[in-house]
Amino acid sequence: MTTAARKLRPGDTIGILGGGQLGRMLAMAAARLGLKAQVFSPDPDSPAFDVVQHATCAEYADVEALELFAADVDVITYEFENVPAATAMILAARRPVLPATSVLETTQDRLAEKNFVTGLGIATARYADVGSVDALCRALDQIGRPAVLKTRRFGYDGKGQVKVQEGDDLDARWTELGSSSAILEAFVPFEKEISVIAARGTDGEVVCFDITENEHRDHILKYSYAPARIPDTVAAEARSIATTIADALGYVGVFAVEMFVLADGSAPRLLVNEIAPRVHNSGHWTLDGASISQFEQHVRAIAGWPLGHPVRHGDVTMTNLIGDDVLGYERWLQVPGATVHLYGKGVPRPGRKMGHVTEIRAHSAGAVKAGK
Ligand code: AMP
Repeated sequence: MTTAARKLRPGDTIGILGGGQLGRMLAMAAARLGLKAQVFSPDPDSPAFDVVQHATCAEYADVEALELFAADVDVITYEFENVPAATAMILAARRPVLPATSVLETTQDRLAEKNFVTGLGIATARYADVGSVDALCRALDQIGRPAVLKTRRFGYDGKGQVKVQEGDDLDARWTELGSSSAILEAFVPFEKEISVIAARGTDGEVVCFDITENEHRDHILKYSYAPARIPDTVAAEARSIATTIADALGYVGVFAVEMFVLADGSAPRLLVNEIAPRVHNSGHWTLDGASISQFEQHVRAIAGWPLGHPVRHGDVTMTNLIGDDVLGYERWLQVPGATVHLYGKGVPRPGRKMGHVTEIRAHSAGAVKAGK
């Protein structure tokens, strides 16, 4: 059973599952719109706890804590897609959960997600369901090498991924992955990676931010650029793909669709890599780089409010501060035009996202004329 969403009023409370930087920035955006936020997270050191008055620190399996949390809030959303199904079910029976919990079933499982996307006639890398070394062997015969072996669930920032190259020992690769539930994907020789950050409102309207171009280091997002340096026709196709996906999911809220751009002359030009049913790191540039951020847009959508139509302030670069990068924050504070965001996390472990910096190069008349 799910409960129907109603339009929120200023003073109402949004419940956020997950206490990381995304939950923190969502709570801050809610506050700016006069809404309260209550964060639920099992981690007592959650960065989102610092910015809300009310927090629930409990396990996602703690039914009593979930019930109390639901009773305190008017709508529930999440900052991560791996919300356990039982948690989602308990909450959805008590309060509206947006995006709907059915979205999680599709996006938590790479195989279900790829089947869903290709079922809409949208291209992805070639893929196969792989549950054993024998199945891996057969899939490689079809897909060829290099290929990427990915766990079906719980993969992020390159975790749960193993590249399979010519001559590799398949038993070793399979053991390295450490899961018996996987998909094999063709390795995509992409020209660029982009993402569409978009929102769908309760009325079905879809609003896309300008397309973002992304650069990864060690599988972790390092830089985002907006707008992406792609032809207008490719940008329009990317927006159309995102809209088709959101409509098919009956989605409400902000989401990201990560895509590979193939070289000019390839058909299709875009392959969908992944859907993130939440605000996304590659949309952080919108906080300073646009009139409405992805966080505000998500809050508007789940509140049943009109979506914003964001205006970008210029050409934007977002740099993630990963691990020890954050130790250079004082240098960043002195860079003219840079806006620094620190997430209030403790120890800067390697690969840990500690903050980000936005830099904006204002539009110049010349650049606008040249269509840049
Ligand atoms: P994912 O966890 O699927 O988002 O993958 C993380 C990153 O690994 C992507 O952003 C790409 O840079 C790279 N990657 C993932 N899948 C592939 C693929 N099939 N071909 C080439 N690179 C990939």
